[in-house]
Amino acid sequence: MRTKLVAGNWKMHGSLTANETLLSALKAGLAAGVGCESAVCVPFPFLTQVQALLQGSPIGWGAQDVSEHAKGAYTGEVSASMLREFGCGYVLVGHSERRAMHGEDSRLVARKMRAAQAASLVPILCVGETLAQREGGVTEDVVTEQIGAVIEELGVGSLACAVIAYEPVWAIGTGKTASPEQAQTVHATIRGFVAGRDQALAEQLRIVYGGSVKAGNAAELFAMPDIDGGLVGGASLDANEFLGICAAAGQ
Ligand code: PEP
Repeated sequence: MRTKLVAGNWKMHGSLTANETLLSALKAGLAAGVGCESAVCVPFPFLTQVQALLQGSPIGWGAQDVSEHAKGAYTGEVSASMLREFGCGYVLVGHSERRAMHGEDSRLVARKMRAAQAASLVPILCVGETLAQREGGVTEDVVTEQIGAVIEELGVGSLACAVIAYEPVWAIGTGKTASPEQAQTVHATIRGFVAGRDQALAEQLRIVYGGSVKAGNAAELFAMPDIDGGLVGGASLDANEFLGICAAAGQ
């Protein structure tokens, strides 16, 4: 039995005032528990505030990126152990915006995942194809290359303490959600790919879907057998939307 996870990705949004309003509403809405795990992945400068506000609540938190290095002369980088000091439980690795805009390839993403796990963070490994790749019929090749690089670098066992987020790039921030069937097909492919290396691990592995998830479409996505929750961008900034998505995950 896999407990669903709903993780918010705030991207480069938020302010001290707006965060306080949003997190108060989330805490109130999730205080009684809704039968799923929830977390928010926030910009680095807000980690102190988020830790103070969410400590003791059922909502976890994390960051959106991490350095592959443990420490040293890497100006601008943030290490996994620093994130742990701020109570992070999760960190996104390989988000498509970082792969596309910051040139992160699958090997670097694997090294970031190693750094995260060395500090006991749970990496949320983001994978997914562009529209051109989907139309070119190579979706499966793309996601298996992205996951395969991690397995080659770190071993399949590294996925035991990780979450995979399938995020078709064409569905991120566009309002175009993959249909539940489209998403399920790729989730099943991913689980099958991992099962080819370790069946028991694949059955436990949480594979969440991301790409324009909203309260209105979450239930049908989460009803699919291989979709174990969501990675939510835009809708995670709206308390009612995020709570609605969590409620759908808890059904
Ligand atoms: C994301 O940023 O990971 C994401 C899925 O964004 P959105 O929900 O806005 O499509």
